[in-house]
Amino acid sequence: QGDSDDDIDYMFKVVLIGDSGVGKSQLLNRFVRNEFHMKSKATIGVEFLTKTVLMDHKHVKAQIWDTAGQERYQAITTAYYRGATGALLTYDVTKRHSFNHVEKWLDELHMHADKNIVVMLVGNKSDLNSIREVPTEEAKDFAKQKGLFFIETSALDSNNVEPAFLGLLSQIYMAVS
Ligand code: GDP
Ligand code: MG
Repeated sequence: QGDSDDDIDYMFKVVLIGDSGVGKSQLLNRFVRNEFHMKSKATIGVEFLTKTVLMDHKHVKAQIWDTAGQERYQAITTAYYRGATGALLTYDVTKRHSFNHVEKWLDELHMHADKNIVVMLVGNKSDLNSIREVPTEEAKDFAKQKGLFFIETSALDSNNVEPAFLGLLSQIYMAVS
C-alpha cells in the first residue's frame, strides 16, 4: 500500500459490530482487498486492516477492527472499542433477529465507546432481496429516530460497500476537522 505514517494526516479507528454471520468480515474484505469469500472463516486472522483514503486533500488512514467471532458469546471487550471514532453496525437484511439486536448493540456502544462515536447502520446482503425480512424503509426510519447514518450493502456484489465505509469516514472527518 506504501503509505508511510509520515504521510498520514488523520488516523481513525473504526470498529465492526453486529451479530455473527451478518457479513462484517466480508464487508471488510471487500473494502480493503476487493475480495469476497462464501466460506468465510470465523476470523480474517488479524485484529484490524488498514486502508488509506484521500479526503479533502488529506490522507486519512482507517484502522478497521474486526472481531474474531467473540460477538457470538457477547464477549467483545472494552479494548475493542477503545479510541474508536466510528462504528459500522451491521445486520443482515434477510435475518429479522439481527435487525432486532441492533438496539442491543447500541446499548453496548453506549456502555463501552466514546459518546461522540459516529455510527453507520448497515443492512448487508442486499443481493438476497427475494428472501429479505427487513424492509428498507423500516430500517431507514429506525436509523433516523436513533440519529444513525444508514445504508444497505452487499459484500457479495460490492453494492454500496465503498459508500458505507467512505460515508462513515467522511462523517468522522467532518466531526474532527
Ligand atoms: P461475520 O460473522 O459478521 O463476520 O460474517 P461473515 O463476513 O463471516 O459472513 C457470514 C456469511 O455470510 C459468509 O458465508 C459470507 O460469505 C456470507 N455473506 C457475507 N456478506 C454477504 C453478502 O453481502 N451477500 C451474501 N449473499 N452473503 C454474504
Ligand atoms: Mg467475522
